[in-house]
Amino acid sequence: MEFVKFNTYLTGLIHKNSFKKQFVFNLTELVRSGVQDPLDEEKHIKTKGLIHRYPDRVVLTVTNRCFAYCRFCFRKNNWKNFSGFELDGAINYLKNKKHVREVLISGGDPFTLSDKQIDDILFQLSNLNNIEVIRIGTRVFTSNPKRIKKETVDILKKHKSLWLAIHINHPDEITKEFKKAVDLIANSGIPIVSQTVLLKGINDDHRILKKLFYTLVKLRIKPYYLFGCDQALGNEKFRVPIEKSLDIMRKLRGNISGLCMPSYAFDLPNGGGKIILEPQNILERKKNIYRIKNFEGKEFVYNDI
Ligand code: SF4
Repeated sequence: MEFVKFNTYLTGLIHKNSFKKQFVFNLTELVRSGVQDPLDEEKHIKTKGLIHRYPDRVVLTVTNRCFAYCRFCFRKNNWKNFSGFELDGAINYLKNKKHVREVLISGGDPFTLSDKQIDDILFQLSNLNNIEVIRIGTRVFTSNPKRIKKETVDILKKHKSLWLAIHINHPDEITKEFKKAVDLIANSGIPIVSQTVLLKGINDDHRILKKLFYTLVKLRIKPYYLFGCDQALGNEKFRVPIEKSLDIMRKLRGNISGLCMPSYAFDLPNGGGKIILEPQNILERKKNIYRIKNFEGKEFVYNDI
């Protein structure tokens, strides 16, 4: 049912290159570069669907279904080889892990589940004393925004410290349906952050990203991460070199406010985890005297304390 709705929504937009390039697969996906599981998540699966990689948080992959399948997805291995999710197993695991305080509900897209299923998951997680924050990672706002209804929001807002992290890559993805869904969430008081994948030929231009981040902040969404494209199978053609990525960050930093700035991050291979990179602005240091480059490339001397 939901898939029919998704098709109607996205196919209405697919004439735009920014959509077509993200979703219409072609033979280049068969290129055998990249790896099946670029984040080495399998190594950290503790119970069905629960990944525990970092000390204070876990990821629950509650489904492998999405409203649209992105060509550059880092979990594309899960589309075929998903071993499922078991809520009871996850809850039992978390009960005994007092230092885990945050859960990211991910997938696939968690909103492919019914409201009732989402409510059950949130209810059980909220009952755990150690869980202080729950985050839902989703692409529903850009791939099937009509899925977010008032009843859905009524369920979400009942639960403790819930955040939404929405995946959006291009300003074209901000439609009137997107805005309506975001308004429903933002008006309910649930905070929203965004995650954007930097994609060659789609959004690797600071002017496109500036427009995206400006609009998101206007809609009460804080740009959180700009991710380098992971080294999953078939992703080669979307990857932007680090040097160019940092140049984009530098140009953004000089042009837009801190509120609109995400962090640039990517995942290291072999399970090395997420790393945040910043353009290097310190050119030289002699004792407490720094030579620093500003966003325009001009040099300044700064006397530290
Ligand atoms: S919506 Fe997310 S999980 Fe689904 S295919 Fe796209 S990137 Fe992958």
